Amino acid sequence: MNKLIFLFVVLLSTFFFNCNNLSTSIGTVSTIKEFNEAVGSAEPGDVITLANGVWKDAELKFYAKGTLQDPITLTVETKGKVFLEGESNIRLAGEHLIVEGLVFRNGHTPTGEVISFKKSNKEFCNNCRVTECVVDNYNPSERHESDYWVSLYGKNNRFDHNYLVGKRNRGVTLAVRLNNPESLENNHRIDHNYFGYRQVLGSNGGETMRIGTSHHSLKNSNTLVEDNYFEVCSGELEIISSKSCQNTYRNNSMYECQGTLTMRHGNETLVENNYIFGNGKPNTGGIRIINETQTVNNNYCEGLTGNRFRSAMVIMNGVPNSPINRYFQVKDSKASNNLLVNCENIQFCAGSDAERSAVPVNCEMTNNIIYNTNKDEVFTVYDDVSGIKFDGNILSPNTVLPTNKGKTISEGFVKKELTLKRVNGLLRPEGYETIGPNTKSERPTADNTGVSWYPKKDYIIKFNTGKKIAVAPGENTILEAAKTSSQGDILVLEAGGTYHQSKSINVPHTLTIRSAGAKATITFERSSLFNIENGGSLSLEGIKVSGEKCDDYAGNSVVRTSRYSMINNYKFKAKNCDFVDLDVNHSFNVLRVYKNTFADSVSLVNCKFDNISGHVLNMNKETDDIGIYNGENVLVDNCTFKDIGGVAINLYRGGRDESTFGPILDLSNTTFVNVGHDKRNKYNAAVNLHGVQLADMKNLKFEKSKKLALHLVVGDPVIKIENADFIDSEEITSNDDAYQRKNITLKKGSK
Ligand code: CA
Repeated sequence: MNKLIFLFVVLLSTFFFNCNNLSTSIGTVSTIKEFNEAVGSAEPGDVITLANGVWKDAELKFYAKGTLQDPITLTVETKGKVFLEGESNIRLAGEHLIVEGLVFRNGHTPTGEVISFKKSNKEFCNNCRVTECVVDNYNPSERHESDYWVSLYGKNNRFDHNYLVGKRNRGVTLAVRLNNPESLENNHRIDHNYFGYRQVLGSNGGETMRIGTSHHSLKNSNTLVEDNYFEVCSGELEIISSKSCQNTYRNNSMYECQGTLTMRHGNETLVENNYIFGNGKPNTGGIRIINETQTVNNNYCEGLTGNRFRSAMVIMNGVPNSPINRYFQVKDSKASNNLLVNCENIQFCAGSDAERSAVPVNCEMTNNIIYNTNKDEVFTVYDDVSGIKFDGNILSPNTVLPTNKGKTISEGFVKKELTLKRVNGLLRPEGYETIGPNTKSERPTADNTGVSWYPKKDYIIKFNTGKKIAVAPGENTILEAAKTSSQGDILVLEAGGTYHQSKSINVPHTLTIRSAGAKATITFERSSLFNIENGGSLSLEGIKVSGEKCDDYAGNSVVRTSRYSMINNYKFKAKNCDFVDLDVNHSFNVLRVYKNTFADSVSLVNCKFDNISGHVLNMNKETDDIGIYNGENVLVDNCTFKDIGGVAINLYRGGRDESTFGPILDLSNTTFVNVGHDKRNKYNAAVNLHGVQLADMKNLKFEKSKKLALHLVVGDPVIKIENADFIDSEEITSNDDAYQRKNITLKKGSK
């Protein structure tokens, strides 16, 4: 009898144990241990739910096998209330898995990937789906430490309706990996994702999407990329880098992205029905064609300003018998029925040089409309373009026809006055409805892509968005006010007030310091007045900074960046400011930057620099010569540099990499008097530009100053100097005469 009861109890407990087991595998899990147990016992059809809250350092290993009818799902208790933070990530392997609702933020992956479709180099995920996940500003602290946010391996996976925003370090945002046979001909579908703001990286490795690598580029990937929205994805030249065969890019929108959809390697790519809006923003590009049998149809490009490799449409030259990682010749490729409105540049045989000498062959460019009544010369032809057959292309009446070896190409182009009307956001010419995108599918926007339950992040640095804080004159009053400030605030100094800082001021967020009227004067003691920390940006308006009370040390500076890697780009602005008497000791700089920091922009407008022992802008700390540099845009307008021991403007970008745009210099209406003569100025220049990609310099006067030194290195940098007087000064020197000079005068013996 006892035995029977015992048996009954055993049976009963086994029953309950199994029930419990079943309920954990379909229930809510609150710890990694519970998650692992649930995954370990997951059966087809099960749903594992992560409990609301913050999951810190959670490395989710979701290895299971569902079926087509009954996938295994990993979801969250409430979308938008489950956060993976610290050193968290997820790996998926197996079959028929669904992941939804994860948010990665406030941290970074401890491995090379945040969302990975593999367990190991042998075990991958097939027929899996990741949907409605968010990766937001999830970066390591080192900007040149590389990782991927999403890596797709295996086959038949779908990545859709996700929101990826704020990638700042090196490494592709989303990569399709082909480095194993199990991941070829994958038929992945990447759709309805929202790729948000990605800052300029200042180096290669800032692609938003890459499919394949050069090594596997002649294999078929068969990946479909459709209905995605790319917003200000400006990491580098390639927004999308297609590096494998038979991929399709269809019905995607790109909004104000600096860069292009690039068919970098691989053949038989289809690019159709995409919408690319530049809105006149600098460096916005379109579609770049390289390799064989590429088809570019019915795309829409508007307001793209980029030139060279980031033009609205580019057909490249190739390298004869190209190594796998260089540029294959463009062959058998077609661009037709595309609509390009108000785009500034269309280029053929781009990149033509001694190495890239193979011109496009057996290509066609037909029935495109290229309309720009604001700019006449949109075509640039760098080499023999007879391998491209032009037919039925319509141009605005003002457009200058392209040329081939100096001869105008008149066949294949018709100039026509068209009436353009904005219909559903696109400027369409009446009567040409078949040119440009069809309207069968909805155009991707910020509203119909990504997730609906997570706030959209705008990480563009903006000054003056916060509150005003009045600061009374005195000692360290600015520091005290800065400590109470927050993002976008404005510290308002008394008109004509005098301020003294015996301590340095850390700037951890966007901050403006402004005088209420007549210039306020700031003196300081420490080795720097302002430290732009990671996340900080600084704007000075109507301020006079004097170095007369500084401690007597070499190497002081008014503003310095963090000494450590800054993952966030920064801005530094000075307007109507005077910087004087920075000469207590040698090498006193106005801005001192450190390695692994990057300025989105530095702008000096209506400023006076007087009596400075060191450099004013010395942005030259990336000396590895691998195409990395310290800042993108430098604007100097209406300034005076007088009695400067070092260089007024020193920009350095070394190496031969072509994947970035900067540094870009805009220098105008500026005078240099007695600049560059200090014996420590090893550059022997008043202005030193090494590897600058774009420089527009005009209305300059150099008196008793060292030279304007140019060193042209990669691609074909566009350097222009117009209206410059050199009076008792050294003139312009350059390693290469491929720069434009106009109205340069040299005068001697003035008094
Ligand atoms: Ca690249």
